[in-house]
Amino acid sequence: MKKIAFFCIPAHGHTNPMLPVASELVKRGDNVRFYSFSEFEKKIRATGAEFISCDSYLPELSQEEEKKIKSVSVTEMSIQDIRITLAMDSFLDDEFKSFKPDVVYTDSACFWGKLNAIKHNVPIVVSTSTFAFNQMSSQYMKSKPSELADMILGLPRASKELKKLEPYGYHVKSYLSLVRNDNDTDTVVYTSRYFQPYEETFNSRYAFVGPSVFSNKKPDKKKERPLVYISMGTVINDRPDFYSKCIDALKGENVDVIISCGRSVDLSSFGALPDNIKVYPYVDQLDILSSADVFITHCGMNSVSESLYMAAPMVLYPQTNEQYAVAARTKEIGAGVMLTDDSANGIRTAVNEILANSDYANAAIKCSNNFRSCTGAKGAADHIENAPHSCDDVNIIDTINKASSKFQAIYWALIIAMIVLIVLVFHWKYVWIIGVAAGIISIPISKAYTKKKYEKLAAAYRSKE
Ligand code: UDP
Repeated sequence: MKKIAFFCIPAHGHTNPMLPVASELVKRGDNVRFYSFSEFEKKIRATGAEFISCDSYLPELSQEEEKKIKSVSVTEMSIQDIRITLAMDSFLDDEFKSFKPDVVYTDSACFWGKLNAIKHNVPIVVSTSTFAFNQMSSQYMKSKPSELADMILGLPRASKELKKLEPYGYHVKSYLSLVRNDNDTDTVVYTSRYFQPYEETFNSRYAFVGPSVFSNKKPDKKKERPLVYISMGTVINDRPDFYSKCIDALKGENVDVIISCGRSVDLSSFGALPDNIKVYPYVDQLDILSSADVFITHCGMNSVSESLYMAAPMVLYPQTNEQYAVAARTKEIGAGVMLTDDSANGIRTAVNEILANSDYANAAIKCSNNFRSCTGAKGAADHIENAPHSCDDVNIIDTINKASSKFQAIYWALIIAMIVLIVLVFHWKYVWIIGVAAGIISIPISKAYTKKKYEKLAAAYRSKE
C-alpha cells in the first residue's frame, strides 16, 4: 500500500481525468489524499479518496485579474499559481510532514503540487490533460498577436513573482522549466502515442494512457440523415454571433443540428429556430458524439478526444494557441478540416466537405480504435505506483538541442567572419544590415535544421522498435 498525494488546479478539464486514476488506486488499497477545492469535493469523495479542501488559499481576484483568467491569459494564470503556492506553503509543509506521501501525482499546471514534491524530496508524477509539450511539440501551437503580447509583456511580471518562491525553498530554474514537459519527469498523458505530436521525443518515463472518457457507448452512426453537433466548450463559449452563423449555414440543409451554446447565451436571441436545428445551454456531449457525423468544435483537448473516441470527424475552429495545436494534429491525422472562413458560407462548405468525403470518418474511426486500445486509468495507476522510473532511452530532445547549439555557433561564426571581411575590404558602414538580416533569417533556417535532425533521429528510433 502506498500513500499518494493528488494535487490539481480548480478546473474541471484538469481534475476529471485524475478521478478514475484515484478510484483505481483506492481500489488497489492505496491511501489517496486529494488536495482540491469544494467545487470538486463530491466527485473526489466518490472515488474513495480523502478530500482536503484548499479553498481558503485561493486569492481574491480583482475584476481585471478575473477578466484575464477568463480570457485564458497564461501570464495571469501563472502569477495566480505562484500566489497560491506561497499562500499554501506552511500548510503543505505540515501536510507533507504528517501524511508523508510516497508519491505525488500533480496536474502539470499545478505549481504548488510540483514544487512541494521537489521541496520535500518525494517522487513526482505529472498529470498532463493536454498534449505533452516540449520544444518540438509546442511548435504545433500558433499564438494570436494578443496571446504573444500577453506572454512577452507579462514575462517581467511573471519573473518578479517567480523570484518570491526562492526564500521558501522552491528552487525554480526558469519559468519554462515549470510549465514544460521534460524527459526527466515521470508523466502521465491522457492521449495515445499515435495522437501525440512528435511522440518519439518523449521517452519511456511517459505513460500515454489514452483519453479519459466517461462513457461505455460505442459509435453508432446509423440514422435517417447526418447529425452535425456544434460546441465551443465551457470556457470561452459566449459566441452568439458564431452560433447564429451556424444556424444560417445549416438551415434547410439535409442534416439535423444540435448546438450547445453555454449557459450565458440567451436562447431567445436566436429567434424562431428552423425545424432541423436545436439549441441547448448544455448537453450530454458524449451521447451526441456517438451518433454525430460532424462536430464543429473549438478544439479543447477533451472535446477533440471525445470526438475521436466516438469516431466523429471535425470542423476545427480553435480559439487559443493550445487549441490550435490540437486542431493542427487532428487535421494531420486526417480527421478534420480547419475552418478558415467562419462565414455561414464557409461553415456550410466545411461541413459538406466532411460529409462528402469518407476519408475523414475513416481517419476518426482509426483513432477511435487506437484510443480504445490504450491502458487508461490502470496504466496511469501502474505508472504512479512504480515511480520513480529509470530510463536509458536515447534522449532525442537532448541530441536535437546539442546539434542545434552547434549549428547556431557555426552559423554565427560564419556571419561574423563575413562582416569583418566586408568592413576590412569595403569599409561599408551599413554592414550592420547584414547582422540584422542574418538574425531574422536564422529563425526559419534553424527551425528547418531542427526538423531535419528530428526526422533523422525519429527514423532511427522507429527502426529500433
Ligand atoms: N461538455 C458537455 N456538454 C456540453 C459542453 C461541453 O458535456 O454541452 C463537456 C465536454 O464533453 C468536454 C468538456 O465539457 O468534456 C469541455 O472540455 P474541453 O477541453 O473540450 O473545452 P473547455 O471547456 O475546457 O474549453
